[in-house]
Amino acid sequence: MILKSLKESRRLLLVTHVRPDGDAIGSILALGRGLSLMGKTVRLYNESPIPAIFRFLPGIEQIVSDPGPLSDYDTAVALDCSDLSRVGGLADAVSRIPTLINIDHHLTNTGFGAHQMIDPAASSTGELVYQILMDLGIAIDSAMAYAIYTAIFTDTGSFLFQNTNPKAFYICGRMVELGVNSYTVAQKLFATYSLGRLKLLNMVLDTIQISRNGKLSVMYLTQEMLRETETSVDDINGLVNYAKHIEDVQVAVLIQESQRLPGGGDRSHYHVSLRSNGPVDVAAIAESYGGGGHSGAAAYTTYTSLAEIKKNVFRLSDIF
Ligand code: AMP
Ligand code: MN
Ligand code: MN
Repeated sequence: MILKSLKESRRLLLVTHVRPDGDAIGSILALGRGLSLMGKTVRLYNESPIPAIFRFLPGIEQIVSDPGPLSDYDTAVALDCSDLSRVGGLADAVSRIPTLINIDHHLTNTGFGAHQMIDPAASSTGELVYQILMDLGIAIDSAMAYAIYTAIFTDTGSFLFQNTNPKAFYICGRMVELGVNSYTVAQKLFATYSLGRLKLLNMVLDTIQISRNGKLSVMYLTQEMLRETETSVDDINGLVNYAKHIEDVQVAVLIQESQRLPGGGDRSHYHVSLRSNGPVDVAAIAESYGGGGHSGAAAYTTYTSLAEIKKNVFRLSDIF
């Protein structure tokens, strides 16, 4: 049904989640380019700024924060969104576009949209986009190959995470055959840090607390730390994983103070990232706080205080 619907569409708006990661960005770029090559009018939308590390991707400038009048589109495609609200402020307006397609791999996907391709066994949404491009008979060029490779490479944590599956290796191998320089991607994404990021890492590591049973680690990051190290949200990517590497730790938590929302008043809000190295399903925990994700990586947003969040999080360690 997805394929038929995509073939019949003429003017498409592709959307993905706020604070986009490599999977969100790679998926939207690859599918967008494929559909454009089929002669369709395609616009790529994201509410948030695109992190600097992804700016090497061909076509990245086509992801815009202004979709124009939504009445222009006959079809919307949501990529890597477990819930349409992940799109941000435009979610309601997007839901009114006549045909809504949902392509995702989150366990917690709500099943929104008229047509869906949801596969929690997929390593990434990029893997699903590759399948769709193949099924549509689109020849993958080097720009699409870089996008798909980046989607899979980032969502599997460079093939370190448990979602790494044979297809992830197979597709990435094909993308290298089609022109991706894997060394270039690795350098761009994971090997080039500003001094500020290292200083930020130092500050965040200094906040580590471990639960009494040793199975949970909690760190936090404040807006003040970003100011002091002259870093930005771009530099936060991946920090949560450091606390997961500690011996015996099963769940790592990073509580991140978010920027105040325009008109949001004085209240801080926090993005809480959860990572599990196995037995504990952090998607279920995030879901209970109104968030979502995968069993090994999930997150939620909250307006409660830092002290309260820490208290709640440490209480979790009693159950595992
Ligand atoms: P993060 O900790 O921000 O890297 O997010 C980890 C995982 O949780 C990713 O797969 C996200 O797509 C998902 N996620 C992040 N924030 C939210 C949220 N507020 N609601 C639902 N899912 C989220
Ligand atoms: Mn994502
Ligand atoms: Mn993903």
